[in-house]
Amino acid sequence: MTHRRFLRLAVSLSILAATLLSQAAHGGANRLIQPKLFDLLDTAEVAMNQGNVNKALAYSDLLLLNNTITYSIDTGAVAPDQRDEAAHAVRESVATWEEALGYEVQFEEVSKGGNVRIAFADSVRLMGKDIAGHAVWSRQVFDWGYGNYTPRVSGEIKVRTLTPEGSPMSEAAWQHTIGHEIGHMLGLWDSPRVGDMMGPINLKNPVTRPTESEVAALQDIRAEALQITQACLALPRR
Ligand SMILES: [Zn+2]
Repeated sequence: MTHRRFLRLAVSLSILAATLLSQAAHGGANRLIQPKLFDLLDTAEVAMNQGNVNKALAYSDLLLLNNTITYSIDTGAVAPDQRDEAAHAVRESVATWEEALGYEVQFEEVSKGGNVRIAFADSVRLMGKDIAGHAVWSRQVFDWGYGNYTPRVSGEIKVRTLTPEGSPMSEAAWQHTIGHEIGHMLGLWDSPRVGDMMGPINLKNPVTRPTESEVAALQDIRAEALQITQACLALPRR
């Protein structure tokens, strides 16, 4: 049964940075990118135009993910003889994204907590359906007053240990699942196309690298954020 071979990957988003501008300003925006990222870009641009350089920089930083993202791995739910493979799949997925983005985004593994917690679970379900993985994340700018702003990224990724039929997930299937969920954290939307990292996962033929167009979509929005950063840094500071 074909439909059993594909597992949906799911994401819930919560971006707490509010803006009144809609994504309409970015009519030609790449559909692979989550619209909320364009909201962050708009906030940065408006702040810059209002002369609020620190705020604009914090929002463009949040888009660029300039700070190293720390992550931890919890393989407690994985069968003991598969734990190394599970942890390896996480590290490979992270390394693949770092390389794809030219090491402009960097991750660092920590033993506990971190910005992103990646945990394996026997079964991952959403609205009654089996899914391969799930990510919840947020990008926020904290406003401390007096012109001080701090960008912060956080998230939780859940990855299933077993296929819906109860057999162990392959390392490649884990890499697709984890790479997909990290793709969400980096700002990508789900794709309907089989063969995309952000597309549905075929357990028999997983995708372990993002496609060129997926990488290009992220690079495009990063370039826009970088322009704001550079324009802000060129402004006279008060
Ligand atoms: Zn997804």
